[in-house]
Amino acid sequence: MSHPTEPDRAYAGAIEERTRTLVAGAAPEASPFGGAPSDLADDVERGAEDLGDRLRHVVQHLHAHPETAFEEHHSAMLLHQELARHGIDARLGVHGVETSVRAETGGADRGPTIAILAEYDALPGIGHACGHNVIAAAGLGAFLALAAVADRLPGRVVLLGTPAEEGHSGKEVMARNGAFEDVDAAIMVHPYGYDLADQVWLGRRLLTLTFTGVEAHASAQPFMGRNALDAVSLAYQGIGLLRQQLPPSDRVHANITDGGQSPNIIPGRAVMKLYARSRQPATLKDLSARLEDVARGAALMTGTGVELQWDEYPPSLPIRTNTALTGRWVAAQQRRGRSPLPLGVVSETLAASTDFGNVSYRIPGIHPLIRIADPATALHTREFAVAAASGAAESAAVDGAVGLALTALDYLLDAPLREAVHAEFQAQGGPIDVPSYFA
Ligand SMILES: [Zn+2]
Ligand SMILES: [Zn+2]
Repeated sequence: MSHPTEPDRAYAGAIEERTRTLVAGAAPEASPFGGAPSDLADDVERGAEDLGDRLRHVVQHLHAHPETAFEEHHSAMLLHQELARHGIDARLGVHGVETSVRAETGGADRGPTIAILAEYDALPGIGHACGHNVIAAAGLGAFLALAAVADRLPGRVVLLGTPAEEGHSGKEVMARNGAFEDVDAAIMVHPYGYDLADQVWLGRRLLTLTFTGVEAHASAQPFMGRNALDAVSLAYQGIGLLRQQLPPSDRVHANITDGGQSPNIIPGRAVMKLYARSRQPATLKDLSARLEDVARGAALMTGTGVELQWDEYPPSLPIRTNTALTGRWVAAQQRRGRSPLPLGVVSETLAASTDFGNVSYRIPGIHPLIRIADPATALHTREFAVAAASGAAESAAVDGAVGLALTALDYLLDAPLREAVHAEFQAQGGPIDVPSYFA
């Protein structure tokens, strides 16, 4: 018996080294906008700080009771109860998702409306290894701090508890059921190993390829068969060869979930599932077309049939970041002694995907990262799950709450900022029709 070879650390080490150099030389980018009046901002910051005990409770309670996508009944109820403690009557199970939460505060007139998003789903097997318990606490804290000054807000703040981020694009389901129709901008924060104002997030689609062949006795009459396993194998090789011509940040990763049952039967059915990821909606669309060609080519070569099923769960788009809003997040974090670093400091090689991307192509938004762990600690590891219940996670919940609350406050009270936010969004191409984008 032999063993896998040890992956060499040289490439990862070089990325870490380069990141260390960039971090040492980087500085937060200043916002050209003034934001909300300072007395109101001070009150909101103090309000969020005063919620510290409740936010620490939410961080720990969610962490101790992890629930996976669409099963977050207890987590949603916890947010509902915490809102009720503060006299907020939230709704459960809105916008087509049973475990969602929605609450509103602020001006009675329509006015500008900003949403604060709170995730709370965990990962199967390793609990809150993505730290969504911290996201929930930060979002809740920001909303409550703003609700405490509701009579001084010229617009509305909506708290949206958004389940099933991991693998299921819960926000897209909610968006298709009207969650953002009366919302002008959306903000959230995600825990990480660094304080980052912005980071690359790739768009992601799931493709299932089902090849149908003709079963035959593999020894007696192989010439009467059409081999579906050969087809799936050729598709896998085709993807491997395609990689050389893909942009460096594209990712394609697959597994074969059905390759036949018995070696003495030519397989009549074989199935491969793959994720395709890319940096722009347009490049993801192009990658999708290339993968379809590979699948059809494999079917043609083997005389099999192929069914292509895209997006069993709604796709995630990459994140389109709004830099005007990012500037206000950075200003708020600097009040907390944090220095969120600009895009490009941490390598985009480390990019993953999030359903917030789908929100960010509908309305302006930000998805900054807040530090709760060592830089080397990757998301979705047991080490990150430990960090998500640490004192650093509790501090990040409070600092994140302050950051989101002040960013929302700035958006509602600083009209030139608000105009810049929407002008930037239009200059980026304006909203896209997400549900039909890949159709
Ligand atoms: Zn995750
Ligand atoms: Zn996450």
